[in-house]
Parts: sequence; C-alpha cells; structure tokens
Amino acid sequence: MSNRYQPSSSQWLTDIAGDLPPVRSLEHDLEVDVAVIGGGFVGLWTAIALKELEPGCKVAVLEQGRCGAGASGLNGGFVMSWWPKIGSLVGICGADDATWLAEETTKAVMALGPYLEQHGIDTEYRQSGWLWTATAPAHIGAWQGCVDTAARLGHGDVFQELPADEIARRTGSPAHIAGIFEAVNATVHPAKLGRGLATIAAKLGVEIYEETRVNKIDRTRPARIATPRGTVTAKRVVIATNAWAANVPELRRQFVCVGSAIVSTPPIPGRLEAIGWTGGESITDSQTTVTYYRTTRAGRLVFGKGGGRLYYTGEPGETAFQDPIGIAEAEADFRRVYPMLADVPLERRWSGPIDRTYDSLPLLGRLGDAPHIAYGIGWSGNGVNSSRIGGRILAGLVLERRERWTENGMVDRIVRRFPPEPFRYLGGCLVRGAMARKDRSEIAGCAPSGLDKALASLAPSGLEDKG
Ligand SMILES: Cc1cc2nc3c(=O)[nH]c(=O)nc-3n(C[C@H](O)[C@H](O)[C@H](O)COP(=O)(O)OP(=O)(O)OC[C@H]3O[C@@H](n4cnc5c(N)ncnc54)[C@H](O)[C@@H]3O)c2cc1C
Repeated sequence: MSNRYQPSSSQWLTDIAGDLPPVRSLEHDLEVDVAVIGGGFVGLWTAIALKELEPGCKVAVLEQGRCGAGASGLNGGFVMSWWPKIGSLVGICGADDATWLAEETTKAVMALGPYLEQHGIDTEYRQSGWLWTATAPAHIGAWQGCVDTAARLGHGDVFQELPADEIARRTGSPAHIAGIFEAVNATVHPAKLGRGLATIAAKLGVEIYEETRVNKIDRTRPARIATPRGTVTAKRVVIATNAWAANVPELRRQFVCVGSAIVSTPPIPGRLEAIGWTGGESITDSQTTVTYYRTTRAGRLVFGKGGGRLYYTGEPGETAFQDPIGIAEAEADFRRVYPMLADVPLERRWSGPIDRTYDSLPLLGRLGDAPHIAYGIGWSGNGVNSSRIGGRILAGLVLERRERWTENGMVDRIVRRFPPEPFRYLGGCLVRGAMARKDRSEIAGCAPSGLDKALASLAPSGLEDKG
C-alpha cells in the first residue's frame, strides 16, 4: 500500500490492503474536459459531482499514489457538519450563506449513509452523534460561542448540553466533566469511503489513473499537464492535492501543513462494554491541540491528536506520515483519558498532514491568472464530510454554473496569508510550543503563563468558535 508519496501504516489502509484493485496508470497522452489532480475525498467527490451534473463531461482523476491513501485514508473518520465552525463561517460569508452552508453540511452527513447504500458500498457509516467535551475545568464552555451563534441563527436545536454524569457515562470515562452533543454527526471507515468513492466515480465513467504524478501544469488554455508517461490536455483543471498544494505558488502561503497523529487498539468490544462506551459516539475535547476519538465496528478504540508539529513549507515528507513525537502525544492523551485501559496494547500508530488555513475553513476558488484552474484545499482537519460540499462547489465552478454553490462567500475569498519562510516556520513553532504548554497546564489544573496564553491565541482558529 505504501509508496514514495503516501507512506503510511494507518489502521484503515491496512484493513483494505488485501482488497485493492490493480493499479491503472496513465501510459499515453489524453484529452479531457476536466482533469482533477488528487484522488482523495475532494478530488473524487468533485469528479462524481461533475458526472452527476453533466454525464457527457469527460473527466479524469490523476493520483500520484493510490486513491484515498492520502489524508483521506489516515483520518479519524468523523463525519461532521460545519456547525462547530459557525462563528468563523458567519465572519467569512455573513449570516445567510453561513446558515445555508452549515445546513447543507448537516444534510450531507445524513445523506451519506443512504447514498453509499444505494451504490452497494459499506463504509461502516454509523450516525451516533458527536460529543464536544471538557477534560479540564478550563475547557468548560469552550463551545458556548458556537452554541449561541447557532441559536441566534435559528438553530438552537443543533447542540444539546448534557449533564456531566451522562457525558462521563456515554464516553466511558470520568475524565470528561462537561460537554455538548450534536446528534447528526456520524463516523465512517475512511479508507473504505475513499475506495468506495473511487468505485462510484469509475462506474459513472470517470477515468482514474493512479500512480500518475502530475509534475507540471502548464496554464495555457487548454491546460497541459505533464505526468511521467503522458501529457493530459484539459479544458479545465481542479487542484485537489491537500497539503501537497504547497507547490502551487498562489496557494503556498494560504495554509500551513501541521501534523495530526492517531493510535488504535486491537478489537476490545468487551472492554468498551465494560466502560460503557457502546453508543458509537465520536468524541473531541477542547484542548488547543485537540484530541479526537471513536470506536469502530470491530470494537477498536481509535484515538487521535491534532495541532501537532508544524512542517516547513513544501510537500509533506515521510515524517508527516510517521511522526514519533505526535504519536507519543496521542498515546499519552489516550492513557490519560482511559486509564482503566492501561493494559490494552496499541496495534497501529500513524500520522498525517493537515492543510490548515488561518480560519480553519477551506479555500475554494480559481487561480487569478488562470480561472480555468480551480482549487479546493485547506480542509484544516475537517474534510471527511465537507469534501462533498466542496466537490459540488468545485464542479459548479469548472462547469461555469451561476448558482448558489458558486456564488457564495466561501468562493474565491481573499484570506489572510501566513508569513514567508523562515518566519512562518519559526513563529509557528513558538506558537505551537505555547499551545502545548497551555494545554498541559490546564489539564494539570494550573493557570498557563500569560506569555503562553498570548502566543497560543495567535494560532489559527480551531474548534473553539472565535467568531
Ligand atoms: C490524522 C488525520 C485525522 C483527521 N481526522 C479527520 C476527521 O476525523 N474528520 C474530518 O472531517 N477530517 C479529518 N481529517 C482531515 C481529512 O482527512 C481531510 O480534510 C480530507 O481527507 C481531505 O481530502 P483531500 O482529498 O483534500 O486530501 P487527500 O486525501 O490527501 O488527497 C489529496 C491527494 O492528492 C494527491 N496528490 C498530491 N500531489 C499530487 C500530484 N502532484 N499529482 C497527483 N496526485 C497528487 C495525494 O497523493 C493525495 O492522495 C484528518 C486528517 C488527518 C491527517
């Protein structure tokens, strides 16, 4: 499964390694209406949306490794609405577009299960809701801005505050001392979702070329795309390359690549039952270096930690996929939250790249000097569900449709840029260190230093609604 570009040993990719279809690479020149670069969730949903909107459109996906083996095969599998980001959304698009987009993400979560079922694809989709919790007194109420904004927009029913004892009971650990519940959210097996989307796209007539790295995009009209053994001539192009988009000059300073790491246990259904975490809820805490965890159909516990190390601008290297420091931090938090599982070993450990923007929402637009080239990047650790919305927007953009999907405040937005290197990297490391120290102090019940608080506040926004 692993190759030079996507080295990984995620639980998910390991699970499906025996069921992969043979690789088909591009071995000739090709002419298409739309070339989609990147075969993760974003590229695949875009290709699917294009064929659903215009079945006659000739679409090719060009993927440097295997489809779904980038961030899409490494993540936590949380299928989330955009309601936890509603404050930032309102800041970007205004109340009307923000409400509409958040509603669309809710609909997308609910539609995903039936859509996959209709195509005969099992991704272990389970709609059991999501708990946003506090594991330290300082976290309590981290969600309040978000809850209030949703209520102000007429969606006071999105989040439900639960009593502390219920939070502890449903999560299987008294480490959780408060929290809210968003019932709509779901979980999936992300690698099964990636392969499933590739299957649907192929059935709709999308040509998928794997192990076909795009080395250069010539911005002529039509665009000429160089791959190792063939040139693709495309009227339109979609860049859906996640953190690899650092090689596109216009996009390089609009996001940073940070790490997120995950550990997983062997199947322990009896132990999950003993602690009471049987409802399938996904859980996130309120640290600035956020932890996120869930169970799987086989009864594994999968525990992740975001806000990890910062990478110098460039394409993700090997350490982004196997970062020992991030993995150790994820394991430490797992042991802290579930001390009663101290004897349970870990089966897999991995990490992956996050394309993080300043406001934690994606960048969807067209290149200024080449509007026939669209991009959808910057998912900021929240792309499993929103990639479907993004794919619909990108399909609308390349088909030049004038509709709400292409004419809302998220499209072609001007965003705050990160400083150039080496200032971005050095400053980012300072901020990241302060975030980690602040989190450790708060969990230990101590007040973080004023300097750490001030530095941590410079971090790109996370779950906590700053809008
Ligand atoms: C550890 C981790 C945990 C996460 N947890 C969650 C979660 O629980 N819920 C959630 O919503 N989100 C989560 N995310 C984020 C989510 O995985 C991403 O937002 C989502 O997968 C983005 O999809 P994508 O298609 O943009 O990226 P990718 O899946 O990375 O796809 C981009 C593809 O582009 C290909 N590519 C790059 N350059 C080239 C090139 N030059 N030529 C051809 N192909 C190229 C890559 O090989 C890759 O396959 C997590 C991410 C990580 C890393």
